[in-house]
Amino acid sequence: MKKNENSQTQNQGVFSRATKTRKKAEYKPTATRTSNRAKSPKIEKEKVFREKKQTDKKYGDTIFKKNSKDNLKIIPIGGIEEIGKNMTVFEYGDDIVIIDCGVAFPEDEMLGIDLVIPDFTYLEKNKQRIRGMVITHGHEDHIGSIPYFLKQINVPIYATKLTAGLITNKLDEHKLTNSTRLKVVNQGQTISLGKMKIEFITSNHSIPDAVALAIHTPVRNSYTYWRF
Ligand SMILES: [Zn+2]
Repeated sequence: MKKNENSQTQNQGVFSRATKTRKKAEYKPTATRTSNRAKSPKIEKEKVFREKKQTDKKYGDTIFKKNSKDNLKIIPIGGIEEIGKNMTVFEYGDDIVIIDCGVAFPEDEMLGIDLVIPDFTYLEKNKQRIRGMVITHGHEDHIGSIPYFLKQINVPIYATKLTAGLITNKLDEHKLTNSTRLKVVNQGQTISLGKMKIEFITSNHSIPDAVALAIHTPVRNSYTYWRF
């Protein structure tokens, strides 16, 4: 008898859940109710979110289209997870802009090595697309490799006055002064290199005349480069 009671209770439980599901499935909101729902702030918010997601996807596809020349590439040649050797490449379409060209100093185990310079292989292969080199400030880890780079690839260099002066010392030492196109840029100035625009932003650092850079590209964003 007890067994039966138990099974009845269990059955009732199953039955009541099933009814609930069926009731839910049968429920159809009236026309008036639907229009009210559409006006509710929560629904509107969801709609806006959905539209934004679609727009982001559209732009995302534009930015990351595989092998497209419309992609912006940011390639660190040096200076990532290391001290010194700062050098970054911004590449868009047929234009390459190089930012900084520094040295690193040898580690204890690098016996007989005086300076460590970045690997210029990628830039040598694409040298016809380089529109210029932009320098943020005059520390060795940002300008130290310039003479070694210029001996392989001659590109115009843009820097503020003090930085340009420090670079000139190096060019004199390596007898590169006459062959180098070194251009002085003021803080606050913007220059165009190919399809990219580089804005020199006044900045504080342990050396005067340092700049951060705003790099404006035809893709949606501008990038701020600030690396000391
Ligand atoms: Zn520095």
